[in-house]
Amino acid sequence: MGMFYDLSQGAPDSSVHIAILSDTHVAAYKNEQYRGFFPSKNFEQVLEQVSEKKPEAMIISGDIARLKGELGDYSAIQKQLQSLKSDMPVLMALGNHDNRLNFYDIFNDNTITRENVFNKHILVTDYNQIRVIMLDSLMYVNKTPGFLGQEQRNWLAKYLERSDNKPVFIFVHHTLSDGDTDLLDAERLFNVVEKHKKVKAIFYGHSHIYKITERNKIKLINVPAVGYNFIDSQPVGWLEARISADKGVFTLHAIGGNIESDGQVSEVKWR
Ligand SMILES: [Zn+2]
Repeated sequence: MGMFYDLSQGAPDSSVHIAILSDTHVAAYKNEQYRGFFPSKNFEQVLEQVSEKKPEAMIISGDIARLKGELGDYSAIQKQLQSLKSDMPVLMALGNHDNRLNFYDIFNDNTITRENVFNKHILVTDYNQIRVIMLDSLMYVNKTPGFLGQEQRNWLAKYLERSDNKPVFIFVHHTLSDGDTDLLDAERLFNVVEKHKKVKAIFYGHSHIYKITERNKIKLINVPAVGYNFIDSQPVGWLEARISADKGVFTLHAIGGNIESDGQVSEVKWR
């Protein structure tokens, strides 16, 4: 006679529930449109869905504002964020269509402490057993490439050496290839993170494409855009993530563009 375990409830779920967005591209002018999409309306719809799902946190992986990161863009975004019906921290990375100083002018009461790296918007936050690091790849406002820079890379290298072994998930705006409009020091970022097994995945936006790939077992998760797609075959929407120490489960919520994969669930094992 063995012991009985009640498996009907399933294993206790220790995963962290996070809403992951990117490229909201919200303008001050609510009816601004591009390629037939209305970014403000998309954002409104996504925030309604996020409110219903009640995640523990929401992340926006850059290109929060429409083009130049105007104060009015951020005011509009802040106002829209107030429509969130459940209380959650909102972590935002900066992209090439953001303006750091304007962003800080509007989001100045951020309760999440910034890392002290010159001129960069870097956040580190722990949720249960996982750690989120938001990097800053904004190089020039309204020019397409991105760059972390040596100081930020050195900070990350030191941080990863000195911190405990919690699984780390990095968020950065720019694509991680070697094209002229990607993250220009992506190779050097990989050099920093690959030797730290605790770094499980890098999330990014910029391309307005949803795909999951990997490099040397680090998962690379390209988050779809909220504002608009660049090609019709891509969804517009967000990812509902349940992240634990060994895997991530991602549900695509497509609200526009190609919605064929709406509700698609992808399970990804971490290294
Ligand atoms: Zn974008």
